[in-house]
Amino acid sequence: MAECRDRATDQLKHWKSLRADENVDSLTTGAGQPIGDKLNVITAGPRGPLLIQDTVFIDEMAHFDRERIPERVVHAKGAGAFGYFEVTHDISSYCKAKLFQQIGKRTSVSVRFSTVGGEAGSADTVRDPRGFACKFYTEDGNWDLTGNNTPIFFIRDPFLFPSFIHTQKRNPQTHLKDADMTWDFFSLRPETLHQVSFLYSDRGIPDGFRHMNGYGSHTFKLVNDKREAVYCKFHLKTNQGIRNLTVEAARQLASEDPDYSIRDLYNAIANGNCPSWTLYVQIMSFQEAQAHRWNPFDVTKVWPHKEFPLIPVGQLVLNKNPVNYFTDVEQLAFDPSNMPPGIEPSPDKMLQGRLFSYPDTHRHRLGVNYLQLPVNCPFKCRVTNYQRDGPMCSTDNQGGAPNYYPNSFSGPECQPLAMEHSLATMNDVARYNSADDDDYSQVTAFYLNVLNADERRRLCENLANHLKDAQLFIQNRMVDLLTKVHADFGAQVHSFLEQYVAKCPQKPVIRTYNRHASDHFVSAEKSNL
Ligand code: NDP
Repeated sequence: MAECRDRATDQLKHWKSLRADENVDSLTTGAGQPIGDKLNVITAGPRGPLLIQDTVFIDEMAHFDRERIPERVVHAKGAGAFGYFEVTHDISSYCKAKLFQQIGKRTSVSVRFSTVGGEAGSADTVRDPRGFACKFYTEDGNWDLTGNNTPIFFIRDPFLFPSFIHTQKRNPQTHLKDADMTWDFFSLRPETLHQVSFLYSDRGIPDGFRHMNGYGSHTFKLVNDKREAVYCKFHLKTNQGIRNLTVEAARQLASEDPDYSIRDLYNAIANGNCPSWTLYVQIMSFQEAQAHRWNPFDVTKVWPHKEFPLIPVGQLVLNKNPVNYFTDVEQLAFDPSNMPPGIEPSPDKMLQGRLFSYPDTHRHRLGVNYLQLPVNCPFKCRVTNYQRDGPMCSTDNQGGAPNYYPNSFSGPECQPLAMEHSLATMNDVARYNSADDDDYSQVTAFYLNVLNADERRRLCENLANHLKDAQLFIQNRMVDLLTKVHADFGAQVHSFLEQYVAKCPQKPVIRTYNRHASDHFVSAEKSNL
């Protein structure tokens, strides 16, 4: 029989081939006692009941019952890999972070790619943003660039995040994905338009993880060794070229190979075809930030390249697959608040919200000592502080070193060079509403200048194909918003919706579009019943 097997399929064969001798290890319990029989439980007679003295069986089952740790609330399904970042261009005039300090310098990295809304067993080829999270193991502690494959996000206020994610998850009663929830939220919040337009464009279904860009998305602050600061955005552009899946191909893969993206990444690296990305920064001075026509800390917007050109920094290369998925990928924990001296947060509200939320979720998911796990541990430096104890402490717990500060017994001391850059604020403490911000111009630029006519048509068709499942008043509200981006955007989506209605006799609804109305549709409902 002909064999058609790839490296991922042959993992076990490969593992066996790496073992030099034919001797197999002794089978033991978790506590290390050798096991005599792993096939038959102890019973009172051949047909009698089990005995509680079968501690080998109880040890096995009790461990099995606890195998799953809580799934990530978002980004539950993912793939990880390891490699390095190499500096190719000097940005030390902007940033004192040690990883950028000399051309040719290499820093170890781990990267996790993911889908966002689906559960751990969901298909890889769904229309969804992709997580692109990088951990750089630097001498000054880990730097986590916890980004996505889009330079923007749906919302700019973290207060909305739980609600937004609920709309992408399951209906609380039916336990089904729910188009009403999704489009109700989108159509009520115009700041989502930019990311929604990216999501329903061709890049909404990347072909695996290797053929997509990554972005830090947020605005960060870079500080140099003279304590001068600028604002910055990070971009990771794929060296493999952008490649996306058609809707039909994605749908077919979702049923035939739901783990398509994980398999693709594993096989590429196993075959020595190591994917890489070029890291760029965009730089904005504090003066430019003051004068910029858009809020530079609003994550629903980009910084135009012409005004803030991409500056190359280095290469990110992935050349090593995980050895064990659970320890290397499932336990891998990213946290945007992991920033070494030289990289700091900006006032970007979404970033500020994530600074709290990510470590909080890891303490819940993995436990308070999650930073001691090998894959999360900042192994390029020594952790010396006044934190102690907690469940599953797996280090020497800093031995007999003093556990309080200040002290007179040579406990770890502060490093003045690591002091954060200061920022003057004189504003009133309040809940500021950004509803009047411009949510349209950048989407218009995307629709008109970035996409060609075919890409625009596919965006409208993809969007309408999902929007059609929402109630009519939500469809109409969404079409109104799209019309504010550009009349053609609204009109095309409207026209696709009409086509779907025509094909679906269960929904006897006719809308009318008044082409003379200044900037939006006049919609009416008529029932054929
Ligand atoms: P530019 O023409 O300099 O940049 C356009 C960008 O769009 C390029 O980075 C390109 O990425 C990217 N792009 C192309 N097709 C798609 C797609 N289907 N989905 C998402 N991105 C795509 O223009 P500006 O910087 O002035 O920005 C104009 C508009 O482009 C923005 O309003 C925004 O919507 C979009 N954009 C801007 C980015 C930025 O950081 N300035 C980044 C991404 C999008 P590539 O070079 O990899 O093909």
